[in-house]
Amino acid sequence: MSQRLSILVFALVMAALPLIPEMPPFWIVLLDNIGLSALVAMGLVLLTGVGGLTSFGQAAFCGFGAYTTAVLTTQYGLSPWLSLPASLVVSGVAAVILGVVTVRLSGHYLPLGTLAWGIGLYYLFSKLEFLGRNDGITQIPPLQIGHFKMLDAGTIYYAIWFAVIVSAILTLNLLDSRTGRGIRALRRGHVAAEAFGVKTARAKLLVFVYAAVLAGLSGWLYAHFQRAATPTPFGAQADIEYLFVAVVGGAGYVWGGVLGAAIVVILKEVLQGYLPLIFGGQGQLEIIVFGIMLVALVQFAPSGVWPWLTGLLPLKSRLRRPDTSIALSAPVRAAPPPGPLLRIDNARKQFGGVTAVNNVSFEVGAREILALIGPNGAGKSTTFNLITGVLKATSGTVSFAGQPIIDAPPQAITQLGISRTFQHVKLVPDMTVLENVAIGAHLRGRSGAIASMLRLDRADEARLLAEATRQIERVGLGDQIDQLAGSLSLGQQRIVEIARALCVNPMLLLLDEPAAGLRHMEKQRLATLLRQLRDGGMSVLLVEHDMGFVMDLADRIVVLDFGTRIAEGTPEAIKTNPDVIKAYLGAVA
Ligand code: ADP
Ligand code: MG
Repeated sequence: MSQRLSILVFALVMAALPLIPEMPPFWIVLLDNIGLSALVAMGLVLLTGVGGLTSFGQAAFCGFGAYTTAVLTTQYGLSPWLSLPASLVVSGVAAVILGVVTVRLSGHYLPLGTLAWGIGLYYLFSKLEFLGRNDGITQIPPLQIGHFKMLDAGTIYYAIWFAVIVSAILTLNLLDSRTGRGIRALRRGHVAAEAFGVKTARAKLLVFVYAAVLAGLSGWLYAHFQRAATPTPFGAQADIEYLFVAVVGGAGYVWGGVLGAAIVVILKEVLQGYLPLIFGGQGQLEIIVFGIMLVALVQFAPSGVWPWLTGLLPLKSRLRRPDTSIALSAPVRAAPPPGPLLRIDNARKQFGGVTAVNNVSFEVGAREILALIGPNGAGKSTTFNLITGVLKATSGTVSFAGQPIIDAPPQAITQLGISRTFQHVKLVPDMTVLENVAIGAHLRGRSGAIASMLRLDRADEARLLAEATRQIERVGLGDQIDQLAGSLSLGQQRIVEIARALCVNPMLLLLDEPAAGLRHMEKQRLATLLRQLRDGGMSVLLVEHDMGFVMDLADRIVVLDFGTRIAEGTPEAIKTNPDVIKAYLGAVA
């Protein structure tokens, strides 16, 4: 069943549920609560499950949504429909302000930061006079269409679930797009994504604001459902519950948020019914059970119930192979002036007392394969990082196509036509080969988040995916295109990185140990590919330890030892150079 059809069936089932005769009204209230919780959880799925940013502050954004509409409708007489955009904007703006400060935090500091302002805002809601302090704001008008007022749980049900289903569709669309690939690379693979032009800081802020707006929407609905806004539902307990919902359902899955909400809301209801019978009249004991369950879940089923459930079904979505006849126009670049394409002049890099690169100079010509060799720790990868802008040189210059690039950020260097692979493979393991490679074409696409959500990006996206497919086929991985990158052998993952680098349509390709982990036949195929690329006009700079591979392939070789260039020449000259034999080749032999 296609995704679209599944959503349609789900929507029809949800629409029919309240029509079941004799449906206890209380169940409808539960379904309403599930929908409200699902909206917040969906934001957390994107933020925490996909983006890797744990937030304990989502309830505060519900609060912004609820209080905004409460104030505007009761004190200024605004219609709830007009206060909806206001609620979303206030939540979003609050998220931008808090996000700019918070998403820079890393590791444990980020959840702690969100927890801190979550608690702070809760107290603010309960102390502000114009928000009614602890009593909150009551007599909020109901949602109304014409003369029809959504006064009871059974009518607002439709507003809530309409919001859930539309939000799920928009979120799924967003994840399946150019912007979405950038978001999905945030958690595992942001270094590579950044190198190919994904603005990771902006992507983090985007998911942060997106999650907050969904929470604001939930808060707006909640205020018109309860017809009141009080501080309690927007406190730390709710924060923990939302996170619990996302983790239970499956924090990496949009529908996991909905499923998690159903599980937790129902469980909470059951626990609230039985726990006081067991432990005496004390309330709110369920949060303790939730806490214990959360710990157990993280231990035993860290990806949640949704992937486990879908794994049971015999569904297997097959990739529709992108149409490779769609062209992606080549990036516009000035023709390089005659002379060497890349010139490294007295480049130096110090890490404290260690001189990793010691005044190294060399050039890479047009249509040339240059190999950089030397023992481990000689400074080869550091040299790559100086060229690609990942590290700033201590001194010296690097120029490309006649232009100095020493202070340019990685993205600008990529845009000029230098792309690379990494010694330690940097792919997003839970994305397919196709999606990983498409990140290489990121800078050649245009569509942003809004266009992606509304599916206005399809033509742009088809061009990017066609280009990615062409490069995958070019490197010989056509059969693996729909497999998860993490499931491939390490050697194949290196080849995927080459395909990704080729999506930049580079003039210079930097390969850091591309043949490591490849079998003999694969190495030969790689050598053939690199020769073809050179003959097609590309320059290649490669670091490699397999001397048979290097001597056979390279036009010229530069040898580094302890950060210093000790030799340069043709493979024949290098093979017999006594300094090189002493420092490196002797050891290799
Ligand atoms: P190669 O790629 O030739 O094996 P590298 O360029 O990775 O060598 O490393 C060169 C030297 O610089 C090594 O001594 C290494 O320990 C040091 N080095 C590399 N990166 C860093 C870093 N980020 N911080 C400190 N030292 C580093
Ligand atoms: Mg290295």
